[in-house]
Amino acid sequence: MSRLVLVLGDQLSEELIALRRADKATDVVVMAEVAAETDYTAHHPKKIALIFAAMRKFAAHLRKEGWEVRYTQLDDTENAGSIPGELLRRAEETGATEVLATEPGEWRLIEALRDTPLDITLLEDDRFLASHAEFEDWAKGRKALRMEYFYREMRRKTGLLMDGDKPEGSDWNYDSENRKPPPDGIGHGGPMSFTPDETVEEVLDLVEARFPKNFGTLRPFHFATDRGQAKRALAHFIRHALPEFGAYQDAMLDEHKYLNHALVSPYINIGLLSALEVCEAAAEAYRAGDAPLNSVEGFIRQIIGWREYVRGIYFHEGPEYPRRNRLNQQRALPSLYWGAETKMRCLSKAVEQTRDEAYAHHIQRLMVTGNFALIAGIDPAEVHEWYLSVYADAFEWVEAPNTVGMSQFADGGVIASKPYVSSGAYIDRMSDYCGHCAYKVKQKTGEGACPFNLLYWHFLTRHRERFENNPRMGNMYRTWDRMDEEKRETVLAEAEAFLKRLSAGETV
Ligand SMILES: Cc1cc2nc3c(=O)[nH]c(=O)nc-3n(C[C@H](O)[C@H](O)[C@H](O)COP(=O)(O)OP(=O)(O)OC[C@H]3O[C@@H](n4cnc5c(N)ncnc54)[C@H](O)[C@@H]3O)c2cc1C
Ligand code: SF4
Repeated sequence: MSRLVLVLGDQLSEELIALRRADKATDVVVMAEVAAETDYTAHHPKKIALIFAAMRKFAAHLRKEGWEVRYTQLDDTENAGSIPGELLRRAEETGATEVLATEPGEWRLIEALRDTPLDITLLEDDRFLASHAEFEDWAKGRKALRMEYFYREMRRKTGLLMDGDKPEGSDWNYDSENRKPPPDGIGHGGPMSFTPDETVEEVLDLVEARFPKNFGTLRPFHFATDRGQAKRALAHFIRHALPEFGAYQDAMLDEHKYLNHALVSPYINIGLLSALEVCEAAAEAYRAGDAPLNSVEGFIRQIIGWREYVRGIYFHEGPEYPRRNRLNQQRALPSLYWGAETKMRCLSKAVEQTRDEAYAHHIQRLMVTGNFALIAGIDPAEVHEWYLSVYADAFEWVEAPNTVGMSQFADGGVIASKPYVSSGAYIDRMSDYCGHCAYKVKQKTGEGACPFNLLYWHFLTRHRERFENNPRMGNMYRTWDRMDEEKRETVLAEAEAFLKRLSAGETV
């Protein structure tokens, strides 16, 4: 009797455990574009197009390799509308009762599969370097689960940038050489872009017709949609951008959307590239003398460190993690996040780029859109929903810990030892946004004062009880306490007035 082999839209790898365990001669691969997945949040049209196009091409590839694939397109009349529904339909069609599935990357779908009345074997997804058991072992008995220590374990495990049992160059982390302010003329020509072929065009037409109201620009579409293209995109990054990746990792420039970032997260997350091969390509560039250690170490840390760590946290903390709101922030997400006009140049550029590209780099997400949401007191559930829907690389296992934990501190400090908040000074140092802004970054109060300067102090005073004894935040409170009282009152009153206008939907 044949079994069904489920392959989800973010599991597009021949190395997938369910495919490795299946028998090509007898088992039937099931892939489906379903409304339950397109509609659980209003995904960016580019994200839907990327996943569907890559799924269709992967299905064609599997067929070429001799697999029987039952593929359901979104507009097929028989489409059952959900993954469990499609499995049941295919089970009836083929007579199969057993299903081999690779564990999905979010609790919602894991629970849906567990509730499906079929004999489903959920295999742990071994595309990740750390298994659930390894992460739990590492976490056991620790007071704080800090990424840096986990990362060192992953270095030892993979042997990446190791010199015997010592880190290459003797330090584990070269961030002191990274994160420089951007000089003129940095950045390269951007990531490799791909002209849509017939399959992609068909998907673009479908997405255009079915999701006309979703936030985001569909065309031009230039993502890689198969493994061959993704490998070329990676090689392009390694050659042109990796050498300066570290130094200007945190920079933000008006005219450079990508700077030296890789734009590989969508490809790794859906299975077109493996995390390890991406890191090995970077390590090879270092060995060949084509990229310096600070860049290569910084890049590899993002993947075997941060990426693996946030995935571990997501499963360690359990299904209610994305709904945490430990700072009890309640304000609704302002319409500027959906493209309404704002005079704040940094936010308008980050949102515009997100709308056009389904991409913003880490510092735009953390220190512009995330920072503003946090200091303005936005409900983290709404912030989470926004990040989950607008980025091409957004899947809950990676998005939620980054948003709810790292960016909004809504987990109460599981991930971050202090909240990532800043006044306008940080944005000014790392970007060229402020020079073109209607607000004045150096102005602390009064007409034209940068809203980040006001809200930063408002946030710290709102949450004083929680943070004033945090050793990493003492300086902030001491600076505030040294300010003369009249100035403090003015800052807080102006912050309140700003928040009132924000909540009333005025253009701020
Ligand atoms: C609020 C917020 C939400 C985020 N949501 C997502 C998300 O939904 N999906 C996602 O993949 N990343 C997310 N990130 C992490 C990070 O911003 C993106 O991985 C990165 O911007 C992807 O672009 P890139 O490939 O050009 O990355 P690069 O800067 O070139 O980094 C290389 C790779 O490192 C990995 N990486 C870097 N930082 C992280 C991180 N913090 N967590 C996990 N992986 C990381 C990614 O795979 C990335 O491709 C989020 C960060 C923040 C602050
Ligand atoms: S002045 Fe303030 S609001 Fe304007 S770009 Fe700079 S940080 Fe953003």
